[in-house]
Amino acid sequence: MAASKIIKKWNILPTEFSKNSINPLRLLWETQQPKGNPKLKEIHLQPGDPTLYGNFPPHPIIAKAISDAALNDKFSYVECLGSRIARQAVADYSQHMGKITADDIILTTGCSMAVEVAIRSLANPDENVLVPRPSWNYSTWIHGSGILAKYYNLNPEKEWEIDLEDLQNKIDKKTKAIIVNSPGNPCGNVFSKNHILDIIEIAEKNCLPIISDEIYEFFTIPSVKFYSFATLSKTVPVLVCSGLTKRFLTPGIRLDWVIVNDRGDKLKEIRKGFQNIAGRNFYPNSTVQHALPKILSEVPQSFFDKNNQMIHNNAKIVYDRLKNVPGLNPIMSKGAIYMLIGIKLEKFPNINSSLEFMQRLANEQSVFTFPSEVFNFPGFLRFVLTSHDEALVEACERLSKFCEKYYKDKTYETL
Ligand SMILES: *Cc1c(COP(=O)(O)O)cnc(C)c1O
Repeated sequence: MAASKIIKKWNILPTEFSKNSINPLRLLWETQQPKGNPKLKEIHLQPGDPTLYGNFPPHPIIAKAISDAALNDKFSYVECLGSRIARQAVADYSQHMGKITADDIILTTGCSMAVEVAIRSLANPDENVLVPRPSWNYSTWIHGSGILAKYYNLNPEKEWEIDLEDLQNKIDKKTKAIIVNSPGNPCGNVFSKNHILDIIEIAEKNCLPIISDEIYEFFTIPSVKFYSFATLSKTVPVLVCSGLTKRFLTPGIRLDWVIVNDRGDKLKEIRKGFQNIAGRNFYPNSTVQHALPKILSEVPQSFFDKNNQMIHNNAKIVYDRLKNVPGLNPIMSKGAIYMLIGIKLEKFPNINSSLEFMQRLANEQSVFTFPSEVFNFPGFLRFVLTSHDEALVEACERLSKFCEKYYKDKTYETL
């Protein structure tokens, strides 16, 4: 018998999962990063990490609670969904959503994972979930899983409310969930009670659960009230994704969660899926889980009030300094830690896109921002509002100077 000749060659290729797990923010930063102007001090307003600038320190209770847990040898494995004590602490902390118990909580490593768990528990490959445009990088986990994202628009003329007609029109037979995010990244928008009720009505009519990314819960300017989708939903199930990352100013701790707000036992089957997914042992560090009850119950309200006040002051600095600059259209932030600045590109004939605007602003003025191309909605720059107030003042001055240099009003030219 002639042995068939198998030619073995090395041929190791990336998988579809790895190829499709693309984070647009990182991709832009790795491929199109501007160098800046060496003559000017760099002002970085791009990463949404409130710890970077030193003016938003986390509350000392957090370090104390974690070090106490470590010194008490709290290093054991815990339940896959998270330790009962930690999940109970999240339930107690989340009573504004209605009656929540420890059984409704899944602890995750970062809120990104909470969002991914929510999406993958509801949609199969080739099915779709609805995603806001602009928004943060939800597509990273959706496309990586072989699920499809269908985008519905937010309306900059209406303080970034959802275009409800567009939302309804994007729903099809394969739609499995609606993702919402308020307070929102990158818009700094906060939905009113009535707007949330309108969104819930659309979900109800189409029998779709809501995945509500509320990582910026309660993170609003003082005159604006935060409502959780879960608080306002009577019949539509809401998976709330939240955690310590932003409100507690501790993104590196990676302790966040999904809260299952069922309404009328519609998620009974899904809960079994959570149990299975959690069986992959993705739960966050158990030492930090041990510290969670102390963190959630003892960080005082004054800490959050002070942070909200500081963000509001910074938002006013940026808005007031840019609102009359020819060629710009800042949209006042109502929450989270961001503001989008609209660029009237028709007034800058030598600049083709907000991406190019960002690069030239950085290379000439050393002001680094993200262009809204990375949020899938071109035409804006995103400012992060957790920088120092003097840095924001200086950034606005340099941006104004840049606009003055390149602004061309076509109405004058034709006179
Ligand atoms: C920062 C952020 C998160 C948090 O993600 P982590 O994985 O906890 O860092 C979630 N959603 C939005 C919209 C965010 O901006």
